[in-house]
Amino acid sequence: REDINKIKPEFVKSFEFENKLMPSTWIVVRIDGCHFHKFSEMHEFEKPNDEQALNLMNSCAVAVLREFSDIVFAYGVSDEYSFVLKKDSQLYQRRGSHIVSAIVSLFSAAYILEWMLFFPNKELKYIPSFDGRAVCYPSSKILQDYLAWRQVDCHINNQYNTCFWELVKSGRSKREAQKYLKGTQTNEKYELLAQKFNIEYNKLPNMFRRGSSVFREEKDTVNTIGETQKRVVIKHCNIIDSCFWEANPNILN
Ligand code: ATP
Ligand code: ATP
Ligand code: MG
Ligand code: MG
Ligand code: MG
Ligand code: MG
Repeated sequence: REDINKIKPEFVKSFEFENKLMPSTWIVVRIDGCHFHKFSEMHEFEKPNDEQALNLMNSCAVAVLREFSDIVFAYGVSDEYSFVLKKDSQLYQRRGSHIVSAIVSLFSAAYILEWMLFFPNKELKYIPSFDGRAVCYPSSKILQDYLAWRQVDCHINNQYNTCFWELVKSGRSKREAQKYLKGTQTNEKYELLAQKFNIEYNKLPNMFRRGSSVFREEKDTVNTIGETQKRVVIKHCNIIDSCFWEANPNILN
């Protein structure tokens, strides 16, 4: 090109748009596995809940919290994770696309790197990927409502999926199971599990029923090079109830 020297960098750069997230709001980045319905089938995940797949997701979330000190809390279920950045975070000058892409790429890379630790006998058949988005929440109350919504979703889906897969495992087709469950209320699903399959729903593992919360514990620990660090923990607690936030006031302080 003869005119290559005429290109003005400022002009070319001017096409980039501002994408700064609203100041002083909680930034939530939610990532979600792309086509994990297929991915979980191809990799023979146990249904409805493959425990190791969830442990792998949790481990990736821990890696993300270790990398980004501005992330104060994360909540994960199925193939998704929500990462909460503190209100006054200046990560990437709050540019949304930078923040989302940095988190989603670290998470995806960790997923692939750690796959063999969680599935030593299962070959990764193709490259998994995740999408991500950022949403700003203006108050900690609304942020808590957001997280409660994800946990309610976890409960509803898990209860449905537990019934669905019990019906399928007992010989019904997927279509029949779906038809059977259509329009059933929560109580009817508890009854179905208890009476037909002898499963007490509330005794299923907390991780399946409540998803996983990742955050830093209050007390400091000293790492191998003598720095004090807050320990990142994975818990399966009820975050719908405000008791959790009252018992852990440091998280959203
Ligand atoms: P999209 O690309 O639109 O997100 P998707 O196929 O990933 O499509 P989701 O709604 O995100 O759809 O649902 C994720 C699916 O992945 C679940 O329905 C479930 O089938 C499967 N899945 C994810 N994690 C697990 C797990 N730990 N055990 C078993 N199945 C899982
Ligand atoms: P940031 O996180 O802000 O992007 P950065 O360290 O990635 O910081 P860049 O401006 O993106 O900074 O520069 C990338 C740097 O990576 C280069 O300066 C160079 O040092 C190194 N690098 C990238 N690719 C190569 C390569 N193929 N060979 C050697 N060095 C490389
Ligand atoms: Mg999706
Ligand atoms: Mg998905
Ligand atoms: Mg999903
Ligand atoms: Mg850069």
